[in-house]
Amino acid sequence: MVSPEMERIKRARRIILDIIENKGREYLYDLTGMGGGFNLKKRDMDILDTYIGPAIFSERLNKVGLQHLGGDPEAHRAVGFNRTTSAILSTLMALSKDIEEVVHYLPRRPSHPSIPRSCKLLDLPYFESDKIEEVVKRIDGSTLTVVTGATMDHRVIDLEHLKKILSRCRERNSISLVDDASGARLRLLYNQPPALKLGANLVVTSTDKLMDGPRAGLLAGDRNLVDTIYEEGLKYGLEAQAPMLAGMVNALENFSLQKLREAFERARRIDLTPLISLGIEVERRPTGFALTSLSEEESVELALKLLERYGIITIPAVGMPGASKTLRIDLCSKDAYRVSDQYIINALIESYRELKFQ
Ligand SMILES: *Cc1c(COP(=O)(O)O)cnc(C)c1O
Repeated sequence: MVSPEMERIKRARRIILDIIENKGREYLYDLTGMGGGFNLKKRDMDILDTYIGPAIFSERLNKVGLQHLGGDPEAHRAVGFNRTTSAILSTLMALSKDIEEVVHYLPRRPSHPSIPRSCKLLDLPYFESDKIEEVVKRIDGSTLTVVTGATMDHRVIDLEHLKKILSRCRERNSISLVDDASGARLRLLYNQPPALKLGANLVVTSTDKLMDGPRAGLLAGDRNLVDTIYEEGLKYGLEAQAPMLAGMVNALENFSLQKLREAFERARRIDLTPLISLGIEVERRPTGFALTSLSEEESVELALKLLERYGIITIPAVGMPGASKTLRIDLCSKDAYRVSDQYIINALIESYRELKFQ
């Protein structure tokens, strides 16, 4: 039996394939905020061999990854995983013998599924909350403490909350992991320091989110911990391979906070009143906006309609099973630069009208 989630993904992929084959790539606008850029230089191609590639690119990734995440080369190390999810699973596998519970603070529930699913797989008790005190009081030497820097829907953590949890982790000797998949860059827009500079033991980010890199996970933190986690990942095939490592290195080298700030400005200015007039509730997000009054089913239908009619790709249409069903438009991907605000708003209005939710 194929789950409804897989049916949805297959349907979205068929629509994308159809547009590519009949119209061309330029008729697709990926506004998920996940650019999936894969820049390889010509000279990179010659060194992608199974064992040669990682020897070269893992060192370069360590250097540029630590720069990106504010790490100290003397104390920290950065490594590449196939996805953020793989980095999280490897971390939990590596630490599962030494901890009794995973406690997780995030600015707004629910968590990205990778954390509770990994706990379930490993039979680790799991507690998550968006109430800071509930989490702080559970932190002790037998917990792994996870903090989400920005949620799947781009709600950004309050810096004071992040500091409070990390300082409690230090007092109580609890290992801390900041899930900064998008937060590593979103938090910069609010002038928040990188997690490692705030004393986190581990941080993970996605080189696909708010930057033009491959979908991959960059894990950084205390050297010994990272080495142990990486080794665990190698055993189960969760590490990034040479082509992915090369794509990550190039994306990190090209990352521009300035470009992100431009998306941030555009998101602040985009006129959302036509949507509000239709009775849709909209909330601004750091680099875009979200439609918050739709049910999950409505979001998915609207997302598929947007894709089919207007070539606009959003997470409720294409996201992995369990990914957020909030329809969010993100303006920081490379496709966002070639589509006007008007095209986006009009596409939303027309698709919404066609579906007659009102
Ligand atoms: C996207 C995301 C992940 C997982 O990233 P994948 O690339 O899908 O593995 C984990 N946590 C948060 C908060 C995310 O936003």
